[in-house]
Amino acid sequence: MSYSVDARGYYGKFGGAYIPEMLFPNVEELRTRYLEIMHEESFQREFKKLLKDYVGRPSPLYLAERLSEKVGAQVYLKREDLNHTGAHKINNTVGQILMAQRLGKTRIIAETGAGQHGVATATVCALKGIECIVYMGAVDIERQAPNVSRMKMLGAEVRPANSGSKTLKDATNEAIRDWINNPQDTHYIIGSVVGPHPYPDMVSRFQSVISEECQWQLNEKIGRSHPDIIVACVGGGSNAAGIYYHYLDNPKVRLVAVEAAGLGIHSGESAATSVLGSAGIIHGSKTLLMQTADGQIVEPYSISAGLDYPGIGPLHAHLIDTGRAEAISITDDEAIHASFELSRSEGIIPALESAHAFAALDKLSYQPNEVILINLSGRGDKDLSTFIKYLDRYAPNQ
Ligand SMILES: *Cc1c(COP(=O)(O)O)cnc(C)c1O
Repeated sequence: MSYSVDARGYYGKFGGAYIPEMLFPNVEELRTRYLEIMHEESFQREFKKLLKDYVGRPSPLYLAERLSEKVGAQVYLKREDLNHTGAHKINNTVGQILMAQRLGKTRIIAETGAGQHGVATATVCALKGIECIVYMGAVDIERQAPNVSRMKMLGAEVRPANSGSKTLKDATNEAIRDWINNPQDTHYIIGSVVGPHPYPDMVSRFQSVISEECQWQLNEKIGRSHPDIIVACVGGGSNAAGIYYHYLDNPKVRLVAVEAAGLGIHSGESAATSVLGSAGIIHGSKTLLMQTADGQIVEPYSISAGLDYPGIGPLHAHLIDTGRAEAISITDDEAIHASFELSRSEGIIPALESAHAFAALDKLSYQPNEVILINLSGRGDKDLSTFIKYLDRYAPNQ
């Protein structure tokens, strides 16, 4: 079984490039050039230098001792929360801004839902002095005011999408329209392992630095380069793809993908794509997505904005379809509980997305002392206004 993308851009049954004719030249230019550019020595040198000096890599691998004791396993945390801008997303935007430069592009567009990818994109555009336009649903602009201010402070233009539900999918439509109208000078930075080929593969490769580091860091700490189990949350799937990447072909490593069940898998307010989804086309690729009987996308819901997505990347659809990865769904309440648990047992406030991965520890079967590697994809500062609502429940006397 292969877990790499094939020459046609597929992972098994999933992937491909289902795009409007007018977008073909843009995607084709990227498809024919991305690997050659990524393999250039000068590209690798600059990418690695920025990851080290600007992002702050390698991110630590940390043995969470009190948590380990509590669950009866050795739990290691990959600290992507310590990256510049607070999450793994910057690994990808640094890679793509260098790609854009080498393709001769002078203008960057992106779409964002909660604003995290928009901030990571605006950051690297400021770093390189490149024009940046971020499309965002008008409703999301209201809901995510701090990230809108961050993007503006970094010099990006935030353009509202006023059609449809005025959220992420509408912002995506605007970004695609922009790219069709500006094929020569513009690169579209997609923020996860989604979209038409070659985006899922390109973004996986940029994020694969996570598992590359885990290999030598585990070797230093436990004398072997692989864990027994890897747990990561999945919105589109980029932090999971990054931490799985170098272990995909090692059958000794169990892969666990954690999705957001929102108010409950069957509550009608959920984002548990692997359970509720079926094959269809979203954002230019064939994958699992939540849709009605006649193929309309179902609005997803999760307390965590980064997991609030109606599909998953085609790699993850393939991993789950073939049984290579196990999927676990976690509700809002379980994720909140895990956020407070990690804060108190380790002194680390996780992003709500990452908290879903920690909550999965309670639902997972494993042997005593097995090595469990959890991707701590981001820090929780951005979620403080949500946590505040639960302080009374978890800290009534303080
Ligand atoms: C955006 C985000 C996610 C979800 O995106 P993936 O592509 O699935 O990784 C997860 N964690 C954090 C902290 C995020 O900001």
